Amino acid sequence: MDLGLKGKVAVVAAASQGMGRATAFALAREGCRLAICARGAEPLEAAAAEIRKTTGAEVLAIPADVSRAADAVGFVEKARAHYGGVDLLLANAGGPPTGRFDALTDEQWAKTFDLTFMSAVRMIRTAVPSMKSRGGGSIVVITSISVKQPIDSLGLSNAIRSGVVGLVKTVAREYAADHIRVNAVVPGYIATGRMTEIIRNRAEREGKTFEVAQQTEVGQVPLGRMGRPEEVADLIAFLLSERASYITGDVVQVDGGLYRGVH
Ligand code: NAD
Repeated sequence: MDLGLKGKVAVVAAASQGMGRATAFALAREGCRLAICARGAEPLEAAAAEIRKTTGAEVLAIPADVSRAADAVGFVEKARAHYGGVDLLLANAGGPPTGRFDALTDEQWAKTFDLTFMSAVRMIRTAVPSMKSRGGGSIVVITSISVKQPIDSLGLSNAIRSGVVGLVKTVAREYAADHIRVNAVVPGYIATGRMTEIIRNRAEREGKTFEVAQQTEVGQVPLGRMGRPEEVADLIAFLLSERASYITGDVVQVDGGLYRGVH
């Protein structure tokens, strides 16, 4: 299937590892021109170099901490200035800290709001004028299975990511007339550094080995394994593409059947 992404300018946040990196690779293979960011310049440049070498794509690497307003705006703005416009955006960031509700501080709530919610607000707001002037665009925000069912000891994600879904639904409606589609992707348990961190914390809290804690997570997944970042990236590339031209305001799971709800 030709996704029709050749030559598009794609801005992919938090892309030195995990699902962001896999999405950058997927879009590069489809012929996009890329801007990617992460906080650390070295791992970011390493990811950019590997994408260029493997796919031949043009990749602009911009160090940025998307939880900071100036960085989130600056990242998208620099990409726009470099390429002369923006067509596609993946709003992504690192995950919030784990911990039970009574251990969470005001500072952690405020920081997670900036990291998880305001990063998406700021990147979308900065990308949209360029998308409008180019006749349309497509945006995907990575959220979590926590927007469907709460994850134990991840109250920050459970609470704040649901707000991100409200944001996605809102901007999808407001920008539909400008031919800008906005969707949320809902990963289940995906084998990345973030998942390793969550399992390690769970093992420590519950006095289990890493292997036992991991098996407890995997045991909940009907497909019997964790997802690969590439499996999420393929969904994101599809949603960003013209092949998904009638899909907007949607919240799409990629979770191996983990979510049990009917709706
Ligand atoms: P990961 O740890 O593999 O990669 C995270 C990437 O984000 C890295 O490149 C890191 O450098 C970058 N990053 C972190 N904080 C940043 C910041 N403030 N500014 C810019 N870049 C930053 O993580 P992942 O598993 O790909 O997760 C991506 C998102 O999806 C996270 O928000 C995570 O909580 C969420 N999520 C992950 C899973 C999973 O199973 N892995 C499931 C649901 C949701």
